Amino acid sequence: MVVITDGELDRYSRQILVSKLDLEGQVRLSQSSVSIIGCGGLGCLIALYLAGAGVGRIELIDDDTVELSNLHRQIAFKGTDLGIPKAEALATNCRQLNDTIEIIASERRFGIDGVADHASVTASDLIVDASDSAVTRMVIERLTRSLGKPWVMASAAQLAGQWVAFDADRAGACYRCIVPAPDAEPMGDCERHGVLGPVAGMIASMSALQTIEILGQMQPVPWGVLRYFDAESMDLRSMPLARAPNCPACHPVTDGYA
Ligand SMILES: [Zn+2]
Repeated sequence: MVVITDGELDRYSRQILVSKLDLEGQVRLSQSSVSIIGCGGLGCLIALYLAGAGVGRIELIDDDTVELSNLHRQIAFKGTDLGIPKAEALATNCRQLNDTIEIIASERRFGIDGVADHASVTASDLIVDASDSAVTRMVIERLTRSLGKPWVMASAAQLAGQWVAFDADRAGACYRCIVPAPDAEPMGDCERHGVLGPVAGMIASMSALQTIEILGQMQPVPWGVLRYFDAESMDLRSMPLARAPNCPACHPVTDGYA
């Protein structure tokens, strides 16, 4: 039985009117739990959109503090947030946007505390990677695969960005099919290589949209289809990923006795 309050009906009325979401999709969003890893240029907007859409539980994971050089793209933060932990500042912002959902600020770097990471992935229906780190993505790939959870990877640098959703069962390609090792990362990160704010915003918006479509069960999910946005040409390309025959995660080397 669908249970939704009058306040929720009013708050979400304009997205409930979207026929592919409808009331059933809205209830699915409110019953969903997501962990967002990284509260930078991508994580800021992804968190705000998911909070606004009414995702019931959102954990924000980041060990960084807000710096002046972040503000051109991390527009959830204000000048008064400088020096404050990003997870805390973003959580405050999300709570002000929507005080009817649960927002958890986790001030830690994902990939360091195995027990905490395991608990975060276990508690989530889906993980969103906004970390800008191939090393972190390796941990996300391993944990989500072992716990049977889907995840959405997003990245942006310079004038380009990409996102892709990996399915829970890894029936298709996984992250390590395209990046076998951290030093094979195809794109740089914003801190080292720079990025325009709206480019990060575009990738964040699309990643949030993908996440809402998955959690709301709005339509068949394009698992394993990499979307690449080039801001110079304004072109958006779709690249279906194939399982790599030499992927160390999909085809682990055994000792010969298995
Ligand atoms: Zn693989």
